[in-house]
Amino acid sequence: MTDCVFCRIAAGEIPADIVAGDDEFVAFKDLHPVAPEHVLVIPRRHVASLDRIGDLGEPAAGRLLAFVALVAEKAGVTEGGYRVIVNTGRNAGQEVQHVHVHILGGEPLGPMRCTRGSGS
Ligand code: 5GP
Ligand code: ZN
Repeated sequence: MTDCVFCRIAAGEIPADIVAGDDEFVAFKDLHPVAPEHVLVIPRRHVASLDRIGDLGEPAAGRLLAFVALVAEKAGVTEGGYRVIVNTGRNAGQEVQHVHVHILGGEPLGPMRCTRGSGS
């Protein structure tokens, strides 16, 4: 059994509020949303971060982005607009070592960065 929390969500071993899924990708609501709509999209296959996205193969990486746009539509944020974030590595504060795309929307999201160098 893996101890990767997102692999376990993809396998249905840990409950999550799933909003979409196919044989390659799963989308579910973030446990600690930072916007009215905050959805995470992951590949079912374990890839630690965007640095390793090539392990999925380039066509799959393209399909991942297309799936993100589909999920945004499903979440109802396409018309108002949304932000996509892929935290990668230490400086970005990546907490879960299974690549994931944040989709944020539902209200104006403000500037891309509020402050400079406020990370811990
Ligand atoms: P990161 O900082 O790695 O880009 O973001 C990880 C995200 O995963 C965080 O926003 C956090 O709230 C979310 N998260 C962590 N564990 C779980 C979980 O068990 N279930 C869900 N739905 N979200 C999680
Ligand atoms: Zn994983």
